[in-house]
Amino acid sequence: MEIRYDHGICLENHRSKVILDPTRQSDIGVVTHGHMDHLVKDAFMTHHTLDILEVRTGERRGRGLSYGFPHPVGGLNVTLYPAGHVFGSAMVMVDDVLYTGDFNPDGGMTCGRPSSYKCRDLIIETTYGKEDYRLPPKDEVVSDILAWTECQLEEGPVVFGSYEFGKAQEIISLLNSIGQEPYVTDNIARLCAVYNRHGVPLRYDTGTPEGDFTAVVPPADLKKTHGEFLKIARKNKGTAAYLSGWCAFYSFFHSMDIDAQFPLSDHAGFDELMDYVKRCQPERVFTVHGSAREFACAVRKELGIEATALK
Ligand SMILES: [Zn+2]
Repeated sequence: MEIRYDHGICLENHRSKVILDPTRQSDIGVVTHGHMDHLVKDAFMTHHTLDILEVRTGERRGRGLSYGFPHPVGGLNVTLYPAGHVFGSAMVMVDDVLYTGDFNPDGGMTCGRPSSYKCRDLIIETTYGKEDYRLPPKDEVVSDILAWTECQLEEGPVVFGSYEFGKAQEIISLLNSIGQEPYVTDNIARLCAVYNRHGVPLRYDTGTPEGDFTAVVPPADLKKTHGEFLKIARKNKGTAAYLSGWCAFYSFFHSMDIDAQFPLSDHAGFDELMDYVKRCQPERVFTVHGSAREFACAVRKELGIEATALK
C-alpha cells in the first residue's frame, strides 16, 4: 500500500484509493471525528460524527458507518474502531494499515476506550509527540478537578471553559457524577442533545443561572471580557478554570480570567504514544500532526522501527 499526504492521508493500492481525514469534501474520504478542523462533507464517518456534522454545519452530508463492520470505500476495505478522543471518534483500519486519527488510549466518560490492533503500517497522530510532552495520569487529573470543584462550590459558582465539542461534554459528565447539572451555552446544549440521542446521558441546564451553580462554556467566554455565565459567577464570588491538555505545559492565567487550570487531555501524551506503537507491533510507522518529526525520530531510536513524518 502506498501511503502519502495530499489534501489528507492518501492510501493507494493499484487503482483503489481512500483519503483519511481529507482537507476538502471527498466521496472517497473518511472523517475520523467531529472537531471542526477534521469535519468535511460527503465523506464516510461514524453515525455519531454524522449527527455532529449536521449540528455544526447545518447540513447532513456524509455517509454513516457503524464501528467494527468492514465497508468498501474507494475499492478498499475500511473498518472503524473507537478512538477514545471524543464522542463518535474513530480509528481507521484499511486492509493492514491502521490510522489512529486523534486518539486517547485512556478514553473518556463519553467516548469509550480504544484498543490496540496489530498492523503492518501504523499511521499515528503525534500532537504530544515531543519527549517532554508527558501528561499526568488521567485519573489523577479527574480527581483533582472534582475535589477542587466541591471545595470552590462552598464559596460560590464554578465555571469551566473547554472546547465546546468533546471536552465540554466530558466535564458535564464528570460534574453529573458529583450531582451537579451545569448550565451550558446553547451551542454546547445542541451538541449534548446528540449524545443523549445516542444513549450517552448528560444532564445540564440552559437559561440564566442563580445561586451557587456550575457552568461549562467555550474558552472564549473565559477571556477578560467575560461571557455571560462568568460575569454572573464573578458577581457572586465565583471561580473559573480552564481545561486542556496544554495546561500541563503552558500557563493560561495571563490570557484568561481563571483561578485554576487542569491538564485534562483528549490526546495521548508522549509515553502513551510510544506504548501504543509497541502494542500494535507495526513494521513501519508514519507520524502526522504536531510533533511528527520528533516522534518519528524517537520511534527509530527507541524501538528501531522504520518511522517517517508524513507531511
Ligand atoms: Zn480532535
